[in-house]
Amino acid sequence: MHFIDSHAHIYAKALQPDLQKAMERVVEASVHKVLMPNIDHTSIDAMLEVELKYPDICHAMMGLHPCSVKRDFEKELYLMESWLEKRKFIAVGETGIDLFWDKTTLGYQQEAFGIQLAWAKKYKIPIVIHCRDAFEETIAVVERHYDETLTGVFHCFTGTKEDAARISALHFKMGIGGVATFKNGGLQQVLPALNTADLLLETDSPYLAPVPHRGKRNESAYIPFIAQKVADILEQDIEEVADFTTNNAIHLFKLPTV
Ligand SMILES: [Zn+2]
Repeated sequence: MHFIDSHAHIYAKALQPDLQKAMERVVEASVHKVLMPNIDHTSIDAMLEVELKYPDICHAMMGLHPCSVKRDFEKELYLMESWLEKRKFIAVGETGIDLFWDKTTLGYQQEAFGIQLAWAKKYKIPIVIHCRDAFEETIAVVERHYDETLTGVFHCFTGTKEDAARISALHFKMGIGGVATFKNGGLQQVLPALNTADLLLETDSPYLAPVPHRGKRNESAYIPFIAQKVADILEQDIEEVADFTTNNAIHLFKLPTV
């Protein structure tokens, strides 16, 4: 059984004190790949250091998180594009729109997101989308930039069946994380209606730890808790969930077969 954590900030300060131990737990949990979304200019060094230490497991993305989009976002994007020109990244991300924390930056967020969608097309890599309290705004930007070469994932998907259908129609995937294990997360009702070919697993570590670790620091080794919950909801075996989510991630991110 193999798993892929398609979204984890394992370079975060909260995980640094025992990163080596955490990586041992990752291997023990059969998590073969950990894909790392960038946040902003302050996270790049730590992320690339982790990638350098664990080159067979950890792969970096490059992009600007919507919560880090401020008035000076062009300066941030300039730095990020210089990185994309310099070397290969697994995806553009994470980017998108977040109206939970700050609605005043919506215009900047839309612009920064549009630029990053253009990068995904230019560099022919998928885009990893963060969307919080902003589904209509987010999908509108994707639809505006859409062409058949564009692929990606709506990470930490917590939307409705209707939202899922619109994501599927664009051939985008949905990242399922710890929220699936929360009693009131809403995914219990939505998941059975989704196409398993559209689903990836993710932790969003160090945030959003699944039950039984809810509220604590999250780590990539907790992927099996999420997989087991998805299996229970879909009335499948965890092995089947491991299979289709791993295959979907390999296909989307063009990973070598694990
Ligand atoms: Zn994230």
